[in-house]
Amino acid sequence: RAKSAGGNRSELADPEADARAITRHGLTTALPTALERGEFFIEYQPLVHLGDGSVRGAEALVRWLHPQHGVLGPDRFIPLAEHTGLIVPLGRWVLEESIRQARAWRVRHGGQDAGPLRINVNLSPCQLSHPGLVQDTVDILERAGVTPDALCLEVTESALIGADDDLLKPLRRLAEMGVDIALDDFGTGYSNLANLRRLPVSVLKLDRSFTQGMQQFPADPVDLKIVEGIVTLAHSLDLAVTVEGVETGAQAEQLRVLGCDTAQGWYYARPGPPERLHDLALADAKG
Ligand code: C2E
Ligand code: MG
Ligand code: MG
Ligand code: MG
Repeated sequence: RAKSAGGNRSELADPEADARAITRHGLTTALPTALERGEFFIEYQPLVHLGDGSVRGAEALVRWLHPQHGVLGPDRFIPLAEHTGLIVPLGRWVLEESIRQARAWRVRHGGQDAGPLRINVNLSPCQLSHPGLVQDTVDILERAGVTPDALCLEVTESALIGADDDLLKPLRRLAEMGVDIALDDFGTGYSNLANLRRLPVSVLKLDRSFTQGMQQFPADPVDLKIVEGIVTLAHSLDLAVTVEGVETGAQAEQLRVLGCDTAQGWYYARPGPPERLHDLALADAKG
């Protein structure tokens, strides 16, 4: 792009960037009405036990069915929702909707108890610092008649780096109630491993970048060593390890041998409608 002395002109000189900015602006202003109009929906991706292949739960992943642009992934609108604060009501809706879904799965499984299907919900940093988080979560669980142990909240490692006690307090309260807290995208945030002891987490979700290193065979020995080290450390701290982005059977086998507990990825299933989880878990229960 040509450098221009007049600041405004250089912006006009890049029509693509302009279009992107307009879309961003358009999406941002459309977000509040989208929530009112029910344009968001949730896909669920199964979490599979690496030892026996059983479906243990699912992660809720939000999508936006935009009237003009079609289905938009969270990377397109979550940052905008965080910027405007709409993430708080949107995140509350995701929590409510997926807990309602977890309840429906349990009923289908013929029990009020924890059953095999648990639900993982992503939490953004803004929700974490919102004072209503704990009470909202308690209310949503109670209204749905779902016990806290059915819920796992995923918080990214980067959101918790350097977190002070005020930020950790609501997570601690939720953990004490029996809600699991997972550290999402673990390994990308350069956090101090010793720091883990201070966080109220019970699950590490190893980032997809680690599984990517195991695509080729034989896998990169350094990657294997790193994963092995993380798993050993996690287990010694009583943390379960989930791996994301498993795309092949060879990866799944490597990760199982390395001691990872649970896996998620296209090899098992892409994110999909809630009915699919039903069928998967039922097929599973029948062996
Ligand atoms: P995440 O929590 O790390 O979710 C995993 C992402 O990896 C999902 O992308 C999922 O579709 C994708 N994925 C799963 N298996 C595979 C695989 O085998 N290969 C590859 N290449 N990708 C795989 P998605 O659905 O686009 O979500 C992106 C991110 O958006 C999520 O990353 C999460 O951080 C965020 N997000 C999604 N839903 C919500 C939500 O309700 N609230 C908040 N705050 N963030 C959300
Ligand atoms: Mg996640
Ligand atoms: Mg993740
Ligand atoms: Mg990730």
